[in-house]
Formats: sequence, structure tokens, C-alpha cells
Amino acid sequence: MDFSGIIGQKDVVDALKISLRSNRIGHAYIFSGPCGIGKKTVARIFSSILMCSEGREDESCGKCKSCLLFENGSNPDYCVLEVEGSSIGVEDIRRLQHDISVRPLYSQKKVYLIPEAEKMTVQAQNCLLKTLEEPPEYGVIILVTSNYDALLETIRSRSVRYDFKRNTFDEVKKFLTDKFGIEYEKAGFIASYANGVIGKAIELLEAEGIKEVRDRVINALVKLKKSGREAVFEINSLFEESKDDGESILDIMLLFYRDILVAGKYGNENILINSDKKDIILENARELSTEKLLNNIAVIEETRNAIKKNANFQLAVEVMLMKLQEENK
Ligand SMILES: [Zn+2]
Repeated sequence: MDFSGIIGQKDVVDALKISLRSNRIGHAYIFSGPCGIGKKTVARIFSSILMCSEGREDESCGKCKSCLLFENGSNPDYCVLEVEGSSIGVEDIRRLQHDISVRPLYSQKKVYLIPEAEKMTVQAQNCLLKTLEEPPEYGVIILVTSNYDALLETIRSRSVRYDFKRNTFDEVKKFLTDKFGIEYEKAGFIASYANGVIGKAIELLEAEGIKEVRDRVINALVKLKKSGREAVFEINSLFEESKDDGESILDIMLLFYRDILVAGKYGNENILINSDKKDIILENARELSTEKLLNNIAVIEETRNAIKKNANFQLAVEVMLMKLQEENK
């Protein structure tokens, strides 16, 4: 295993390679960045190299006992802390601590991966702190999180952080055409909505329905000017249907207004994301003033930020729709 298949994330990968080559391995790492960006994939590769008995700088051999067991998912020296329920509690961490006190059986290191580390309760984090303060020399703990701020300062200060960045539009597009062989235009469409996250692009690709949802959102936004209440009702139900993925709908809304702005106000019709909706976009560009468009975009972005800061989702959406209705009368 090596890092050659990782798209982008050059800073992270380079830094990990340097630490592997110079054999300067920490006991605790935090891999932070958006969901679906590849943190766990990189953590897995890094772990396999750390554990490999052949110790080949920045790749694992794939042949030693540790590698063979790792690849078929049965290496006892590699543990992923999967928890049921919404939080990682003290008991989960105690289990880890008990386990880490036993030396590795087949590998150079014993690696513990904690996905969604932000789910650790404060007590769990304080409990983990004891291990971070006095880790066994063979122990490595990798915390993976999309919410770095949820980790205690004491945990952060004892860990090496690697922050994963969003991929570029072109990287996502190239990934989709190379890996899935989908045509260029469709790849561009999906990449626009993936917002630099490859995991999200794959999700969208699998959830074929993205175009259908987009059409409904756009229809409702167009309606907003004429029959506000009906449109608000329609958008609200789209949010309800999509449940966990409300952010996608906010993206669709943003990109629609962005297209109108780009096409109508700056006269550039060739870089539309919703290029198949050109007529609707041009028509709306004639009807909506630049000021209104910018206000609409600001309202949606405000909502997205509020949700990121854990505002009540439903309430935030309702407030947004009220403002939009008012703005577009
Ligand atoms: Zn190996």
C-alpha cells in the first residue's frame, strides 16, 4: 500500500512521507477536514505502513504477516473504534486503553483509529488524555474528525494535526472521468455540486436522483416570485425529504443564483453549471436585479454558516425561506 492513489492532499501526504522516512512517528494524530475528503483512506494507508514488518519508508510490503492480516481485515494490532449510538463514551476509551496495554502481536506498531472523534464526550476525551500523556512506545492513535473544534485543547496540544483540504473542481472532475468513465459534461455537473469533496461526488453519482432534486428546487425558486407560499412549501418539503443532506439543497440554490448572476449580469453563458437550464436562467436574469440576486446569495450563505455552527436546522431553513420570499416578491 502507498499514497499514490490519493487525489490532491499533497501537503498532508508529503508531510506523512517525510515523517515515515525520517522515522519520526508521533503517538497521536488528528486528521481533520470535511466528511468524505479521504481522511480515513489516508489513515488506513498510513497505518499499514506503520505496522509493516519490512519497514519500507513510505509504502507497506503487502507480503509480511502484518500486511497480509491487515489486508484481509483481521490484524489484531489494528483497531478501529466503531461505536453504536451518537457518542463515544468513557467505556469505549477504557476498552481501548486496556487493549493498548498489550504489545502488538504481528506488527511494528499498534494503531487505533477513532473515526468521528468529535463524538467523544468530554469525559471520554479526558480519559483518553491519560493514554496520550503516557503512551506505550508502540502505540499510535489517529483521531479522525470533521469538527476539530470539538476536541479539547489538551487533546489537540498532544497530537500532530493534518488538515485535509477540499479538492479542486478539476481534480474531482478528473477523478469522476478516470475512475468511473462518465462523460465530461456530467462529471462537470456532479463536480460542481460536490464542493471539492470526492466522497460527496461518489455519493451524488450513486444517488442518480440529483438532477431530479435540482429540477424541483429550481422550479420552486422560479415560482418564488409568483406564488411565494406555494414555493416555500415545496422547498420545505424537499428539505424534509432529504433529511441528512439539506446542505446539497442549499448548494443547488446557491449555484442557481450564481448562474443567473454569471449569465445575466456578466453575459457569460458558457460557464453555467446548470447549462441545460440556460433558458430559465436567462429569463430570470432579466427579471431579477443584481441587488436581489446578491441578497438571495447572502441569505443562503448565512443559513449555511448558521447550520455549520449547529443552529437548529429546520428553524434556520424556515427563516431563510421567509427572507427569500420577502426579497423576491
Ligand atoms: Zn509488510
